[in-house]
Amino acid sequence: MTLARYACDPTCSRGRRHAEEAAPTRTDFQRDRDRIVHSTAFRRLVYKTQVFLNHEGDLFRTRMTHSLEVAQLARSISRTLQLNEDLVEAIALAHDLGHTPFGHAGQDALDDCMAGDGGFEHNLQSLRVVDELEERYPRFNGLNLTFETREGILKHCSRHNAQRIDAAEPGGVGRRFLDRSQPGLEAQLCNLADEIAYNAHDIDDGVRSGLISMEQLGEVDLFDHFRRQALQEFPALQGRRLLYEAIRRMLSAQVYDVIECTRAALDGAGPASADEARAAGPLVGFSEAMRSRSAVLKRFLLTNLYRHARVLDTTGQAKEVVRELFAVYRNDPHEMGADFTARPDTSRAIADYIAGMTDRFAAREHERLTGRRLLA
Ligand code: MG
Repeated sequence: MTLARYACDPTCSRGRRHAEEAAPTRTDFQRDRDRIVHSTAFRRLVYKTQVFLNHEGDLFRTRMTHSLEVAQLARSISRTLQLNEDLVEAIALAHDLGHTPFGHAGQDALDDCMAGDGGFEHNLQSLRVVDELEERYPRFNGLNLTFETREGILKHCSRHNAQRIDAAEPGGVGRRFLDRSQPGLEAQLCNLADEIAYNAHDIDDGVRSGLISMEQLGEVDLFDHFRRQALQEFPALQGRRLLYEAIRRMLSAQVYDVIECTRAALDGAGPASADEARAAGPLVGFSEAMRSRSAVLKRFLLTNLYRHARVLDTTGQAKEVVRELFAVYRNDPHEMGADFTARPDTSRAIADYIAGMTDRFAAREHERLTGRRLLA
């Protein structure tokens, strides 16, 4: 596969934090991808909530299936644009490794618990997982991934955190948040593929759960346009097949839109290397029209799904579980696993321990420690 000149080339990688011999048969980005797939944090994604709690149904997306869908979309676009597909896959599979149990509710509760100790942010935690928390190698902590994969994992970062990262790793992955440059095109692409994936699968999961209906989705042009188009071609189509056909067409339209707009942006900027692409401002993106249609869908999902009374009820319980776990471990760190008990930075150790939990482990651990059963 020929790479475009603006793609990230593994032979020009900015390297790993700990120097390692090159692998005999794999590029550095392929090796990153393989390390991620074999990590403990990756396997835990199976039992972590995306929107619907893991125990609410076997067909809802989990962090794992979400990550696979992001990887599929990003790889497909990447191949067409001749970007580095292996790098895109590595970033996509790792992008949610730092998520707490119970989705955003878990992260918000943990952030509150850590308010006096530097806070908690899932994206920063994803980087922490691959840099520090995985314990697989004799000579270093973490997975020792390349700069390019780590740059893609760190999607957003406050100025304060960027300064902290840049102090520990001068000119490293925190730098771009200080000088306001862009990450490589592969990272830009994964960020957008994430959004495309969750907007589409949250419609599917939302309708499946009965919390939103296809009739309600009539107010979302991006979806309804393709629902009507599908019905024109197949007038008898209904139910699940109609839903899937509309989502499929919506996904394709977004993918083609990204490809077309990104090609035009690349033609305009004419970057001759990955670094020139980083310096050229954001290049991977939707057209203006698609951006605003997608924003309508996002607002719809926020109002009607993420803030649905039934979702808010379970997220309330999820926050309680995280807050109470944190309080118990704070009182008695010995209730945690031995590695975490031994750490001198108790609050951060608790945050790392809780963030690593799957939904069901957190719920069981909460019951064991408090005698109360929530989210059952
Ligand atoms: Mg994601």
